[in-house]
Amino acid sequence: MANESNLFQELVSHCKEYGYIFQSSELYDGLSAVYDYGQMGAQLKKNLRDEWWKSMTQLNENIVGIDAAIFMHPTVWKASGHVDNFSDPMIDNKDSKKRYRVDHLIEGFADELKEAGKTTEAEAIITSMEALIGKDDYAGLKKLIEDNKIKCGISKTCNWTDVRQFNLMFSTEFGAVASENEGDNIVYLRPETAQGIFVNFLNVQKTGRMKIPFGIAQTGKAFRNEIVARQFIFRMREFEQMEMQFFVRPGTQMEWYNYWKEERKKWHESIGIPAAKLRFHDHVKLAHYADAALDIEFEFPFGWKELEGIHSRTDFDLTQHAKFSKKKIQYYDNDLNEEGKPYGNYTPYVVETSVGLDRLFLTVLSLAYANEKWTKEDGTEDSRVVLRIPPKIAPTKLAILPLIKKDGLPEIAKELLNECKGSFMCFCEEKDTIGKRYRRMDAIGTPFCVTIDHQTKEDQTVTIRYRDDMRQERIALKDVKKLVLEKIS
Ligand code: ATP
Repeated sequence: MANESNLFQELVSHCKEYGYIFQSSELYDGLSAVYDYGQMGAQLKKNLRDEWWKSMTQLNENIVGIDAAIFMHPTVWKASGHVDNFSDPMIDNKDSKKRYRVDHLIEGFADELKEAGKTTEAEAIITSMEALIGKDDYAGLKKLIEDNKIKCGISKTCNWTDVRQFNLMFSTEFGAVASENEGDNIVYLRPETAQGIFVNFLNVQKTGRMKIPFGIAQTGKAFRNEIVARQFIFRMREFEQMEMQFFVRPGTQMEWYNYWKEERKKWHESIGIPAAKLRFHDHVKLAHYADAALDIEFEFPFGWKELEGIHSRTDFDLTQHAKFSKKKIQYYDNDLNEEGKPYGNYTPYVVETSVGLDRLFLTVLSLAYANEKWTKEDGTEDSRVVLRIPPKIAPTKLAILPLIKKDGLPEIAKELLNECKGSFMCFCEEKDTIGKRYRRMDAIGTPFCVTIDHQTKEDQTVTIRYRDDMRQERIALKDVKKLVLEKIS
């Protein structure tokens, strides 16, 4: 575990050094749990988003995509239950004034017990905690913390407040003029993208002439005032979700839930995540809107954690929005008549798939990162840091490297760049020795490098070098674009 954690720290530093991820507002010492994606990171993130978008909207004729606003009418969040329910049980240490999420505090303590070899005790505490959270028994949770003498990491005391609920939504004021009624102009930054889909259900269904079953997909920012934001981009206060709400006939939801559970796992595998690193985790305590829910978990360097949620949300959201907006939100199912059943107006049920783009990014990078050392044929040691990002999602596909900056080699490189750049991301790099340039390309995850040398001028061939096994071969200059296109398709 110690090695895993070192590797994770190395990955975090690597992300900064090679333009993947920077701490937000770093110049001003940073803003906690908020990150900026640099030149490499933004492209990788876009590639992941595009893959998801294509798999949802282009490869499924019955799923369409929308892009709803981040700001929504405040009543949306009353109807959805977020104003009343979107909270975590918290506890403060009276001496250090530090606030903890109760489950994180207890889990941290259980991890310490495990490290000390007390696995049975650790498991017993987690089981008790889950039962108490399931019953919303806050006094019981406080007693569990006190009985086990769980201390604050800063003050090292057990001087705790009562356990309280803390709403995770960020709010701000709308418009320049203060309202006479306090709170009237409060709006929230959306804590999930799903509600933008629910409130547009009728708009999309009618204008797109969508027939059930059909889905609406969306990617976009979501905001949560996470109390304990940790593990780099795993838990952020501003993050991006990729969600799809699939509207189905009531009674068929379990069939679709099972379908999407398998489909989504397969999709993760299709972008290079090994099946052995993914697993399903069924929810014990269901959210107020769900009749079934599970997480697709990935084995991150810090353990198995949620990557994506699959939720059967019943007709809860559409029913709530109909109630709060006083508008009818129903679907007229013509097909029921054709099947010999009476025409039906009903509120569709919803199966949702919800994956965090940043968590997916972290998944891909933690699989790709390797710090390799080996002994060369002449007995000397060599090493490299490589990001083995699958070629189809790698930010840059091809680096074109003229051996020297003269003799017409940069011009040939430029011609190749112009030929390829309309089809995929590529760039020319002239600085440093070829060896150093290869190492840099390994470190930023470029799967193919092409070297232009003097022989290129004579026989129109180049050396192509493969990032993953460092193999090199001579191929025709005219075949470079075709070869890269084949490898990334
Ligand atoms: P967790 O239990 O880890 O807090 P959640 O169950 O609250 O997650 P959902 O509400 O199901 O998460 O959100 C769907 C997805 O959005 C998650 O699977 C995760 O990938 C992503 N996500 C949720 N919260 C965050 C966050 N604070 N930072 C980054 N990604 C997040």
